[in-house]
Amino acid sequence: MLTINNKTDALIIVDVQNDFCPGGVLAVPEGDKVIPVINQLIPKFDKVYTTQDWHPEDHISFKKQGGIWPPHCVANTKGADFHPGLKVENAIHIFKGTDKNKEAYSGFQGTDLSGKLKENGIRRIFITGLATDYCVKATALDGLKQGFEVVVISDAIKGVDVNPDDSKKALQEMKDAGVFIIKSGKLY
Ligand SMILES: [Zn+2]
Repeated sequence: MLTINNKTDALIIVDVQNDFCPGGVLAVPEGDKVIPVINQLIPKFDKVYTTQDWHPEDHISFKKQGGIWPPHCVANTKGADFHPGLKVENAIHIFKGTDKNKEAYSGFQGTDLSGKLKENGIRRIFITGLATDYCVKATALDGLKQGFEVVVISDAIKGVDVNPDDSKKALQEMKDAGVFIIKSGKLY
C-alpha cells in the first residue's frame, strides 16, 4: 500500500492518444483498457501531467525518413489527440517528438517536464499510459535520472510486444533500475 502525498507526488499519463489505441495507426493491443484505470487515478492527484507524441509530418521515426514506425501522432491531427474517453481537461500537457530530427520516447526528452515538476515541488512521479515497452519505460528511466522517485502503475500500462516478452522485460529493466511497480488498487 502507498499513500499519495499531493504536495510532492504527481501523476503522469504517457501517450494515451488515438493512434496508440485500437483503431489507430500504431495501436497498442487493448491500449484503451488503461483508460478507466487512469480515470480513477486522476481525481486522487492534485497535479496531473500528460505527454503526447507530437510529430511533424516528416519525423525521423517514420519509415519514409528511415525510421521504424508508420506515420503516427502528427501534430494537430485526430491521431495525436487524446483518446476521447480520457479525462485530462485539468492536466498540464507536455508535447514530445516535436523536432523532426529527434526521436523522443521519453516525456523528459527535449521537453520542460522535469523543470515543471521540480517547480511544483514534485519529488515522486506515478507513471501510467502507453506503451510499456517504449515510452512508459523511457519516461520511467529518465525520471530516475532526473532525480525523481518513480512508481509505475502496472494495471494502468499496456505494451506493444513486437517480441512477445518485451513488456515483461521492460518491467524487469525498470525494477532493476529502481522503479517501484504497484497496482492501482494499492494506492490511497
Ligand atoms: Zn512517435
